[in-house]
Amino acid sequence: MLRKKERGFRKANRSHLGTALFIAVLVMMAFLAMAIAFGVFALRYAVDERVMNEYREVQRLADSYDRLAGSASTLLLTQYGERDFYVRSADGRIMLQRGEDTCDGKPEQVRMYISEERLNVCRDTELPLIYTYAGRMKLDVNGFHRWMNTTGGMVRLAERREKLQLPYWIAVPVSDGAAVLYVRCIYGIDVFDMSVLLTVLAVGGSLSVIFILFLFGYLISAVVKQRRLTNLFFMDEITGTHNWMWFQIKGEHQLSRGRYAKTRFAVLDIVFVNYRYFCLCHSVQEGEKLLCEMDRVINKDLSKGEMCAHYASANFVVLMRYGNREELMRRLHALTGQLEAIDADYRLAFHIGVDPVEPAADANGRILKRRDVNLELEYNNACAARATLTGDDSAIAWFDGKLVEEQKWISIVQEKQQAALDNEEFVVYYQPKYAPGTDILSGAEALIRWQSPEFGLKSPGTFIPIFEKNGFITEIDHYMLTHVAREQRRWLDEGLHCVPVSVNVSRAHFIENDLAEQIRDIVDAAGTPHHLIEIELTESAFFDDKNAIIETIGKLKEYGFTVSMDDFGSGYSSLNSLKDMPLDVLKLDAEFFRGEAEGGRGEIVVSEAIRLAKLLNMRTVAEGVEAREQVEFLEKQGCDMIQGFIYDKPMPGDTFVTRMQGAKPAAPAENKTDAEAVK
Ligand code: C2E
Ligand code: MG
Ligand code: MG
Repeated sequence: MLRKKERGFRKANRSHLGTALFIAVLVMMAFLAMAIAFGVFALRYAVDERVMNEYREVQRLADSYDRLAGSASTLLLTQYGERDFYVRSADGRIMLQRGEDTCDGKPEQVRMYISEERLNVCRDTELPLIYTYAGRMKLDVNGFHRWMNTTGGMVRLAERREKLQLPYWIAVPVSDGAAVLYVRCIYGIDVFDMSVLLTVLAVGGSLSVIFILFLFGYLISAVVKQRRLTNLFFMDEITGTHNWMWFQIKGEHQLSRGRYAKTRFAVLDIVFVNYRYFCLCHSVQEGEKLLCEMDRVINKDLSKGEMCAHYASANFVVLMRYGNREELMRRLHALTGQLEAIDADYRLAFHIGVDPVEPAADANGRILKRRDVNLELEYNNACAARATLTGDDSAIAWFDGKLVEEQKWISIVQEKQQAALDNEEFVVYYQPKYAPGTDILSGAEALIRWQSPEFGLKSPGTFIPIFEKNGFITEIDHYMLTHVAREQRRWLDEGLHCVPVSVNVSRAHFIENDLAEQIRDIVDAAGTPHHLIEIELTESAFFDDKNAIIETIGKLKEYGFTVSMDDFGSGYSSLNSLKDMPLDVLKLDAEFFRGEAEGGRGEIVVSEAIRLAKLLNMRTVAEGVEAREQVEFLEKQGCDMIQGFIYDKPMPGDTFVTRMQGAKPAAPAENKTDAEAVK
């Protein structure tokens, strides 16, 4: 998605620049064409003008010759004007001549550019710089240049203000075509002509230079503008340095470069764990300052070929090169130390997820260039590794095969959850609760198992957390309640002595206002007396909307259900919840019965919790009890029920029926239910 956006942006930018360039070149070409056309026209006009002046002179001379033809006064013509000329009859005789004959005598017809007049022109043999070609008069530019150099033409022109005289001959018929008059004409170039020419050249040249400069200026500004836009596009708003998009493009390019084919890389997700609290305690601005500092510290640690960008919130994505795992771990520990030192007054903690990107190799182990690198996927792996870290201390986690398996399992569960529910693959297991001392069956807890045809019997720990995250847990709880209520009804009908069975209700339900009504309706639909159903709320549910929970508990009690608080003691505000919630049962968390607390402190806490429950008119259930001494201790403290492996593990409904039929457990339960219980 990001890729597409980035490509689109570049394309838009390129096309903008391309169009500008195209238009600029077009305008420049049009301008140059106009300038050239104007220059050529001006030049041709000047040439035409001068040649036609000469031609008119020649015509006058021809007219005079015709008028005086045959008379002796023709000779007078030789005194007229300064031009050299001669008249040659058709048979080649020279009829009249003045001056030297330097005409090549080979007239060619030329056409004037502007006036379109046609005249016969010959070349001068002494200074043959003007000649005819394809019906036009031409200047031998190279010859002219040479001649100027050898004769110091320019100096002459400038110093003596002389005219440069380029000779050519014009031939006109006289005596009704019986003879031809050849007149030596001059194309004169003076200092004015040269200065006009130079001015035109200078103006044209400077205009061209100005235009080219303007074009370059425009192009440079367009490129700078594009650069700025690109920088903005790749800039992170908070740190002012690079953002994820920059990282993704640069990083993928870097990873696929041939020179780094053998290099091991690691993609890291570095997150400042307590960012939100830091912002709460200080301010968002202070938090952002800290992120800038984080960015600086990380970047300072990077060497050639490595890069870093701010991803989002307090997450940074980093690409690092490394030799082996130990070396990278040492480096990351050192980096964590530097990050923690950013603010000595505050206990900063950083979690780092590492996803190794190994060199790519073919079947024979030959190292290949990495192709199709997907940094988004690699970063996702790094994030998955980082997400396994809990606690408020800095820590580092590597992405490995186990995590891949976990990810795969999550998607399998999500894919199959609905079908499993529809096919009734979820089964209810019951774990009995006994009254200590008497060992009388006093209740049970319904616990789910997934009897998957593909994966076998799965315990709730492998799928309940996934359902809690994706919301499917509400369907599961309805399913469990429905099945438990139906089974209770069936057992009642079979004449069994039923005991209350507790059903777990996840906190996700508490957004539903009519939860109590839903529970009542499900149980009523099965026709089960309400006192045989107990609702277990996990302690975490009590952190949600307190009033909604109090109201739901009130309604449930009103409908005759027992309500218990599961896992009491595993959270932080249990005591506070007890103050407000009118609960019936307190289930002491299994953690109370794990390990030995020094000086019997655990026992003190348990006995006081039981005393407190009694004072609040609540019954107590101890969960996770595994030792006979614990049973004796709980009995002494007045605990009402015990649910633990010391008596029974969770078991299928059929086995639970035998418990109800009065098969009183006499000894610890391993030999009785191990085969059925699944952990
Ligand atoms: P929980 O509701 O606290 O259930 C008690 C768990 O402790 C059960 O694990 C049970 O097998 C285990 N347990 C009981 N006694 C002992 C003991 O002496 N030693 C040890 N090591 N464990 C003991 P289980 O069946 O694996 O269930 C785990 C959790 O999954 C439950 O904890 C509950 O939070 C959740 N869960 C199970 N079924 C459901 C359900 O239908 N709906 C909901 N929302 N959650 C369920
Ligand atoms: Mg429970
Ligand atoms: Mg529990």
